Amino acid sequence: MKKFLSLILIFLASKCFSQLSSASSLPQQAFSSHSFCPAEIKAFMRCYPDIDYTTTFDLEQNDWKIDMTADLFFERTKKPKGKKSASLYWAGGRLLPKEELANKENYWVLQYKYENKLRDPKSYTKEEIEQIKQFGSAENRRNAPGTPMFFFDWLYSAQSRVIIEDHIIKTTFLGRPTRIHERVYDKLKIVEKKILEKKNEPEVKAFLSNLKSADAYHWREIVQTSRKSFHAYGIAIDILPKRLNRKAIYWSWEKDKLGEDRWMLVPLEKRWMPPKEVIKIFENEGFIWGGYWAIYDNMHFEYHPELTGQSGQS
Ligand SMILES: [Zn+2]
Repeated sequence: MKKFLSLILIFLASKCFSQLSSASSLPQQAFSSHSFCPAEIKAFMRCYPDIDYTTTFDLEQNDWKIDMTADLFFERTKKPKGKKSASLYWAGGRLLPKEELANKENYWVLQYKYENKLRDPKSYTKEEIEQIKQFGSAENRRNAPGTPMFFFDWLYSAQSRVIIEDHIIKTTFLGRPTRIHERVYDKLKIVEKKILEKKNEPEVKAFLSNLKSADAYHWREIVQTSRKSFHAYGIAIDILPKRLNRKAIYWSWEKDKLGEDRWMLVPLEKRWMPPKEVIKIFENEGFIWGGYWAIYDNMHFEYHPELTGQSGQS
């Protein structure tokens, strides 16, 4: 019976094309059931439209296996383009290699609702304050579940410093030197162009004249954890102002100043913020802003089209 079932599944295993247009032009019955290439996998992969992928249901693992192929660029070294491939399991939205499936609970899901609204710390309940404090504790940051990086390691060729640096482009952002991953370069340039189109608007003008640096790629681990930060992938950028005017910008610096219990309560008006317009421009190109996090990082933008719902490549 099992053999029969697997034969049927192999026969029916659907090939999901990453381009929405190709998917919608296929006969409807190919996607008639959510069991074959579930909508959530399609929704995720649609955010990275240049990846070719095939999904098959692995009866042994009781999970969807996703075989992916993407172009290799090597923009910086001008090496010839090639292809790279990987196979990961969906694992409820975590994209894990087979050997990590048993440790699924150690990882967060990759696609969740991006809350792009500022929460007033005055509205935090006692329990929430305790949770945030716990979340920002050194112990939690070492041991708690974290983002599974397997998909990003593959997509951005971030297996090691030597490998990824072939894919990092030296450029400028708003006149400041920076280094960005070649896959995100075009997006960052669109952000820059759109910000400059608004350079005469008072808030944007003040933001631009107060801009100190725009650091993106940096090979480092996240503070107090053993995980790599998205700066190590060249897909996160920190926009630092010259003058903070005594405002807070980063939770960990406030923790050092104010202690364990008060850093999360810094009122919104006492936090440095980029203009709303600038945040919107970044979001429209697939970047999330760290200022919305309870563990606030107001200088930080990170490229995650799967969270903002943008289609990755322009
Ligand atoms: Zn950052």
